[in-house]
Amino acid sequence: MSDLTVAAAQRCVIEAMKRLGTESVPLQQAFGRVLAADIKANRDQPPYDVSAMDGFAIRSADVANAPVVLEIIEDIKAGDMPRKTVQPGQCARIMTGAPVPSGADAVIRVEDTEAVSETQVRINVAVKPHNDIRDQGESMRTDEVVLTAGTTITPGVVGMLAMVKAASVEVWRLPRVAILSTGDELEGLEEPFDANKIPDANSYALMAQVQALGIEPVLLGIARDEPSHLKEMLQRGLQFDVLLVSGGSSVGVHDYVRPTLEALGVQMKFWRVQMKPGHPMAFGVAPLTWVFGLPGNPVSGMVCFEEFVGPALRYITGHANLFRRTVMAKLARDVKHKHSRTEFVRVMLGRDSDGFTATPTGDQGSGILRSMAMAEGLMIVPAECKGLVAGEQVTVQLLDGTAYQDEAGE
Ligand code: AMP
Ligand code: MG
Repeated sequence: MSDLTVAAAQRCVIEAMKRLGTESVPLQQAFGRVLAADIKANRDQPPYDVSAMDGFAIRSADVANAPVVLEIIEDIKAGDMPRKTVQPGQCARIMTGAPVPSGADAVIRVEDTEAVSETQVRINVAVKPHNDIRDQGESMRTDEVVLTAGTTITPGVVGMLAMVKAASVEVWRLPRVAILSTGDELEGLEEPFDANKIPDANSYALMAQVQALGIEPVLLGIARDEPSHLKEMLQRGLQFDVLLVSGGSSVGVHDYVRPTLEALGVQMKFWRVQMKPGHPMAFGVAPLTWVFGLPGNPVSGMVCFEEFVGPALRYITGHANLFRRTVMAKLARDVKHKHSRTEFVRVMLGRDSDGFTATPTGDQGSGILRSMAMAEGLMIVPAECKGLVAGEQVTVQLLDGTAYQDEAGE
């Protein structure tokens, strides 16, 4: 099979995904999840016409020739129900959120009035009917769908859910995700220091990328580059919904991941993508598990996670927008591009009078994790590009935050 383009590989991954059913979670734990059902309002909000200001509920006809002095017939606080009807020449003192009494058709804010006595107030302005009144049902009506299935539960959505008394909500299930690193050269975080070894950074970088999506992964540890040990570890990983395997997917004689996965019944969909970093990127499907073979080079693995695993996990968890938000930025310096693969350049973002600027984070070697640690975005250099010059507008995928979009920005 020839190498796939990034877009074709993303399509292949997303087409293989499905959701894992729904579950009910308490509202306190719903943040970040995705609604699996529409949500309806169970009352009008506000439940009656209320004042938008602290001030006086009046009859607008009475104040047409302001200034005018009116008699105060009662005080209405939020939570009170008015007892009297406002007659001509009368008004009621009213607080923000309190019900507008019958007879009154407008509210005058306190700043536009002067106290005359305990029972009298001077109104200094004329207003139209309905001034500073919030209508019954203005923010939601009984039985109206106020949130649709597929909505990501942001803090504002949590507030809306509380507003309709949704103590528990139906959301898409989270997948169980396992992470396995491979390589005889690797030293685990808990293992004794050996200057000749390579610390296993990938298990943890990938762990954090999964956590950023609201999922707690299981770290399976390190598999040695030896077929029977690798097979045993991969078998363990195939008990999960999603298995991320770091390293061992390229074409070296000790890269046993692909043949071992195939021997375990994983149907490989692709194992190379026309991208840099991240050329040896594999994806396969087992009866219970989606398997991603990520490159061992730490930056490559993280970039491949961003382009393939993140969108897949967002699909599974019910999100409508799968891909990192892209912005346009002005490139701060020339960038060479001599090959025909899509390149993802780690950049820091700044601002000038035109908007964002993008500055590459130094050496872009795919093993140089520091360039990823400093990156706020990935600049996308299209495969066919012949190089970029300072000042050009470029496309940058944002790496932080919760803003996502519905299409990849290639
Ligand atoms: P591989 O994809 O197994 O050929 O690995 C490519 C490069 O990435 C090698 O230099 C490895 O030492 C390095 N590497 C592989 N796995 C990890 C890991 N878990 N943490 C840090 N570096 C790794
Ligand atoms: Mg290796």
